[in-house]
Amino acid sequence: MKEALLYEKLDDKKVKCLVCNHNCLINEAKRGICAVRENRDGVLYSLVYGKAIALHVDPIEKKPFFNFHPGSRAFSLATIGCNFSCLNCQNAEISQFPKHKGEIAGEEVLPEEIVSKAIKQDCSSISYTYTEPTVFFEYAYDTARIARTKGLKNTFVTNGFMSSKCLEMIAPYLDAANVDLKSFTEQFYKKFCGGRLNPVLDNLKQLKKLGIWVEVTTLIIPTLNDSSEELKKIAEFIVSLGPETPWHVTAFYPAYKMTDLPGTSPELLHKARKIGIDAGLLYVYSGNIPGDEGENTYCSKCGKLVIRRFGFKVIEYNIENSCCNFCNNKIDGVGI
Ligand code: SF4
Repeated sequence: MKEALLYEKLDDKKVKCLVCNHNCLINEAKRGICAVRENRDGVLYSLVYGKAIALHVDPIEKKPFFNFHPGSRAFSLATIGCNFSCLNCQNAEISQFPKHKGEIAGEEVLPEEIVSKAIKQDCSSISYTYTEPTVFFEYAYDTARIARTKGLKNTFVTNGFMSSKCLEMIAPYLDAANVDLKSFTEQFYKKFCGGRLNPVLDNLKQLKKLGIWVEVTTLIIPTLNDSSEELKKIAEFIVSLGPETPWHVTAFYPAYKMTDLPGTSPELLHKARKIGIDAGLLYVYSGNIPGDEGENTYCSKCGKLVIRRFGFKVIEYNIENSCCNFCNNKIDGVGI
């Protein structure tokens, strides 16, 4: 247990958590929506500090990051818990675990150990991923600070619902974020995720302002967020962040409480990708259909293939000093 970093003490031993935009008001002996932050005698604690539920080495492409240190290894860390409750969550066993079971699970691994494990396994970054890093903020923050002193990068794979205070605090140590933009309607966020859209949009703008490398992911769910109109709105919003911002449109498959819908067809994914390209985005990727041409990176000037991928593996690389080998045009990204 670790005392939380961002919260307010209120009357009658109540507390207000300031880590994410839910801003939970928590009574004594109760937990917030994420179920991993608890008020004990008027003090808010993180119950998952140092309690890793997942530690893996992944290709950075799996996060997904396609324009950030392509081909590198990311040491991935997660705890249980999430501030959303997406009906289609692919990691529900760990993200929703404390809400369903009321228990806390995880292997004790302190931040220093995470960093040394990452170095030992030849990773160039630590990725806070699988569940929402915001809800294990103190653990992520301490790990990220140590990682930075050892020359490792830090990346968040996030639903983008953190508070502005939380973002401000992690920003000096955060190199990149992949933010889920799940839909462009408040209704979708409320009904299917237990969240809100506007704070996510604000945080995306703020991440760009702070100079953090941003990639955006939208899981395309048949009938729920796949209309041309909605996809166009998402694409136009990302263009407004900067046309160099990569957009990953990924295929849904039935999971958790959303098993009544079909998986996303390659045709639908191609339609979404085309909408992104037509809106002016320079890097639009299709995800979850290995071997699809949308997995590759193309030069935005000459159109030639500069990074060929199969699934999460980089199999051809035609970039030198961040420039296209064919026409010398700059390829946007970090460590590219
Ligand atoms: S992190 Fe978010 S969901 Fe969890 S207690 Fe704090 S405000 Fe509530």
